[in-house]
Amino acid sequence: MSKFWSPFVNELTPYIPGEQPKKDNLIKLNTNENPFAPSPKVIEAIHAATNESLRLYSDPEGQSLKQTIANYYKLKANQVFLGNGSDEVLAHVFHALFKHDNELPILFPDISYSFYPVYCGLYSIHYESIEVDNKFQINVAGYFRANSGIIFPNPNAPTGIVLPLATIRQLLEQNRQSVVVVDEAYIDFGGESAISLIDKYPNLLVVQTFSKSRSLAGLRVGFALGQADLIEALERVKNSFNSYPLDRLALAGAEAAIKDDVYFNNICQQIIENRDILINALESLHFKVLPSMANFLFVTHKQLDASQLATNLRDKGIIVRHFNKPRINQFLRISIGTKQENQSLIAALADIIK
Ligand SMILES: *Cc1c(COP(=O)(O)O)cnc(C)c1O
Repeated sequence: MSKFWSPFVNELTPYIPGEQPKKDNLIKLNTNENPFAPSPKVIEAIHAATNESLRLYSDPEGQSLKQTIANYYKLKANQVFLGNGSDEVLAHVFHALFKHDNELPILFPDISYSFYPVYCGLYSIHYESIEVDNKFQINVAGYFRANSGIIFPNPNAPTGIVLPLATIRQLLEQNRQSVVVVDEAYIDFGGESAISLIDKYPNLLVVQTFSKSRSLAGLRVGFALGQADLIEALERVKNSFNSYPLDRLALAGAEAAIKDDVYFNNICQQIIENRDILINALESLHFKVLPSMANFLFVTHKQLDASQLATNLRDKGIIVRHFNKPRINQFLRISIGTKQENQSLIAALADIIK
């Protein structure tokens, strides 16, 4: 606290990201990064863009990347919004679409992405969290009430549980008065995207990221897809905040990533395979594993304290994520690694258990 601060700063509760360790040779299964390298074509494109043109600003509209994403998902370029990571996209969503002058709260699950309440704090948005059921499933009927907006990840984080498209459609049928945001950070690992519903529902916004399925967490590129009218609201806020959220290298790399569909499908498929193998191995060690359609697993063990287990794993050079929060403090979130990393994890756990 300081007399120099704007007063509202005292009231903020910032998000705490998972650790990015300075030490090498840790097995890092704590922030859901992709264990595979980005496509070689992405690296080439970034190399090619690394030249004297860096003295010039990047395209403020990111038009070429927007068009590439639009073509890929069979939309129009004015249905695509770009941001510096999907976290920035989400921040603009809260500001541009969720902040209304009424008493109605926005709604999201109690077990969900912990950045949502942080944005509510930043922009003074009233929210209510809706409990997931005792199997940690989102119950959409809980959202059939007056609200200023609805947001949830699909698959949900940190549970990994996916909502079928038919259920999302049901929610959209019931909720036409406010924006419904589906945060699809993990959709490419087996879930069904809501993008196909955009044409029919003017209040649907789908948010995706290059950080997870396209192995580009360090490049910081995220995007939103929706009808042009929603996108325009986001552009207005973005252009009141930062004209150039994506730099030249990010624009070039992201475009190459979308264009290398073969590589993308291949690594997503490998993660799905590795997920199945890891689930079996964890279940043989008597872990309970929630059904995951993401690149991580949410697991608990009757005999082992989750926080202690995270510490024991860290001592063995493996980091996973523990959330010290109600309902989930006996769970660990474990990102799916390479086959070798997953084997090391299982070996370490077997050792701790015996
Ligand atoms: C990782 C993640 C994001 C943020 O991704 P960035 O694009 O890296 O900012 C957004 N939502 C959820 C649910 C995530 O897990």
